[in-house]
Amino acid sequence: MITLICPECRRENEPERIYCHDCGARLDRTALAKEAPKGEDVKDTQRRLRNMLDPGRAKMRLMFFKVSKVILGALILAALIQMILPPDVPPRQKTGDFPPQINLDLENAAMNHGSTPLQYTEAQVNAYLGSALKSKQAALSKLLQFERAIVTLEENGGRITAERSLFGFSVFTTTSGKVSLQDGKLTASNTGGSIGRLPIHPLLMKYSDPLFSDLWAALDRERKAVAKMASMELRPQAVVLTPKP
Ligand SMILES: [Zn+2]
Repeated sequence: MITLICPECRRENEPERIYCHDCGARLDRTALAKEAPKGEDVKDTQRRLRNMLDPGRAKMRLMFFKVSKVILGALILAALIQMILPPDVPPRQKTGDFPPQINLDLENAAMNHGSTPLQYTEAQVNAYLGSALKSKQAALSKLLQFERAIVTLEENGGRITAERSLFGFSVFTTTSGKVSLQDGKLTASNTGGSIGRLPIHPLLMKYSDPLFSDLWAALDRERKAVAKMASMELRPQAVVLTPKP
């Protein structure tokens, strides 16, 4: 480290000082200038400065940020469009006809220990849900107006889509999973989901519970009724429930 020696009292002063710490005499700082940074550093600094100030490069950099912003904006917009596009769900059905009373069927079967399996098609399940959830609509609508829930049945599992509306605009959230019924316990493992047509990774679906918690609560009675069955077999577009003997 370079020190500045006071011309008056010979005290060694720190290089930052202009006046001597002891006697206050002005220090000769020319020694510092000679010890200036090595040639390499100066050249590097100059090059860096030149690059920084070069109008061509500055323009390129600005352009890069502008383009990045546009691309990012486009990606967000594309994601938003995917989110608001309705997924492939059957059109809304009139629930005026008599939907099967699945809940009552299940409760009766559990009480009577009937051995005849109950079988429903996907359309019947959806007709039932349409009418069952209608009466719970007020409880379901917290933030968004609950419209309907649509079930898609697949091998050993399926998807459930909730349609909610915000100012008359539909928002669809879907969760899909494998469902099994064992020893009176109904378990589901998530295999993914989507918001609109935007797929959501299964790992992220862990955080989607608030999106469906109201629906699960509204379907609690149905869940309990199904859990009383001996077995539940999910097939493409159909479900077979076998009561306990
Ligand atoms: Zn001094």
